[in-house]
Amino acid sequence: MSRRRYDAIVIGGGHNALVAAAYLARAKRRTLVLEKRPLVGGASVTEEVYPGFKFSVFSYVVSLLRPEIIRDLELPKHGLQILPLESTITPLDDGDYLAGWPDADESRNELRRHSPRDADAMSIFGRLMHHMAMAVKPILGMIPPDPTSLSPKDLAGLLKLGRHFRSLGSEHFHALHKLMTMSSADYLDEWFEFDALKATKSASGIIGTFLGPRSPGSAYVLLHHYMGEIDGAFRAWGFQKGGTGAISESIASAAKALGTEIRTGADVVAVTTKDGKATGVALKNGEEIGAKLVISGLDPRLTFTRLVDPKTLPGDLVEGIRRYKFRGSSGKVNLALSGLPSFTCMPGKGPHLRGAISISPSIEYLERAYDDAKYGEFSRHPYMDIVIPSMIDPGMAPPGKHVMSIFVQYAPYQLNGGWTDARREAFGDTVIKTLARYAPNLESLILHRQVLTPADIERITGLSEGNIFQGELALHQLFFLRPAPAWAKYRTPVKGYWQCGAGTHPGGGIMGASGRLAALEIVGRGA
Ligand SMILES: Cc1cc2nc3c(=O)[nH]c(=O)nc-3n(C[C@H](O)[C@H](O)[C@H](O)COP(=O)(O)OP(=O)(O)OC[C@H]3O[C@@H](n4cnc5c(N)ncnc54)[C@H](O)[C@@H]3O)c2cc1C
Repeated sequence: MSRRRYDAIVIGGGHNALVAAAYLARAKRRTLVLEKRPLVGGASVTEEVYPGFKFSVFSYVVSLLRPEIIRDLELPKHGLQILPLESTITPLDDGDYLAGWPDADESRNELRRHSPRDADAMSIFGRLMHHMAMAVKPILGMIPPDPTSLSPKDLAGLLKLGRHFRSLGSEHFHALHKLMTMSSADYLDEWFEFDALKATKSASGIIGTFLGPRSPGSAYVLLHHYMGEIDGAFRAWGFQKGGTGAISESIASAAKALGTEIRTGADVVAVTTKDGKATGVALKNGEEIGAKLVISGLDPRLTFTRLVDPKTLPGDLVEGIRRYKFRGSSGKVNLALSGLPSFTCMPGKGPHLRGAISISPSIEYLERAYDDAKYGEFSRHPYMDIVIPSMIDPGMAPPGKHVMSIFVQYAPYQLNGGWTDARREAFGDTVIKTLARYAPNLESLILHRQVLTPADIERITGLSEGNIFQGELALHQLFFLRPAPAWAKYRTPVKGYWQCGAGTHPGGGIMGASGRLAALEIVGRGA
């Protein structure tokens, strides 16, 4: 056992773990972060995959990062610099497009071109979504009370929640209930008629889940993604200068400035315990490090069934974790390009290449993409969310060249016959072929391509089944049920062993909220 004893060891160097470590260090706990990979950040990393070409290998845009974390940790001083993502275009199959521009009037006029009714509905919808995000905001910042507990703290939490819901007024409460229970397609049908608009908006409701736009529950995921646009520090999706790895680096730098030690290349294989209490961790290289507290930033499967012996945990918790749904459904294709793609709907270079390009021409297109996945195949015509970071941040690629990030759904973790090298390449080919229908010069520009399946995401980051959120953002595993009933307050049944990853409330995305809430709960309890 290493003689250096820490107050707290945080396992994993994902952004949530780094946030937790920074808040613990701020509360004067001597803290050590142990990350398996050579770099911190987890799914929020930048890597020079091909010489001169830097990629936000997994997550690629940011908006959810909690403003209070940015403030408390003074992240801009440590390198946080978000550059705006200026537009969204959806190429249509008839050669036209739907565009959303930074200027609200311009966007309204563009929508009016397709549907005057939708252009009028958009401002009322926008206001309602603002209210919905405000309705959910206190929940994101709250340690979930257990509705089955009679403890004064839980009862007080439930009362606070009840008062909050009452304060919304009936109209907003009913709208929130609908968002919590409906499919994104059904919800958007109540507002809009233009199919490509509904498809592009509903795409936010399927990201990271094994749901289609017509699956109940997808409207909540849509709201989750809306949160940052309305309540986040940037009020829009943006790029971090230097890629999403620079966000993790800025949090790591803040944590270090507060006294945290960070070790990379440190693969934790077990939490050591004595008399039912955590005493530290054991590394793959045989080293043991002692600490009063151990906090796992890994997902619930790894936290409860790999790092500790599940036989020592209550059976209902282990069963709950076994049932917890991961079902990764997303893949990523990163391209190094010799030049810029030209889209048939908007040929040549233009402001549209500084924003997102969404391959979501209709609800039917997305639902059929999901159909393939339901039966164990990757989508023959997938949904794609594409950005070209080098257009905004030229340092990401050599002069005159570009990097393109393609987020793809659906690529089911449980592929018929399993993921092999050949299936990975076939998946990559499908993505390129589909995109080339809209940007015919694309194939001739590709210098290198990195294709990541959910199995690759799991292998590299540890995210079980490649689920991008450390477990689906589905109602049955949110709030007091994330990751399991009675264990949503960051504690575990092992004394001194805590959880702080995106598999805890309020969930995934580069948000940092799980890490912050876990640290506040730990510190608040005097642990
Ligand atoms: C392909 C993809 C695209 C995404 N796109 C976006 C996006 O654009 N915007 C957005 O907001 N979110 C996006 N996300 C989601 C977001 O990145 C994640 O939800 C978030 O990064 C999870 O952070 P975390 O800190 O909880 O955990 P993770 O990022 O999962 O970090 C866990 C860390 O633990 C380490 N680890 C694992 N096992 C061990 C061990 N035994 N010992 C030591 N260390 C270990 C891992 O290496 C990793 O660094 C995306 C995710 C993926 C995969």
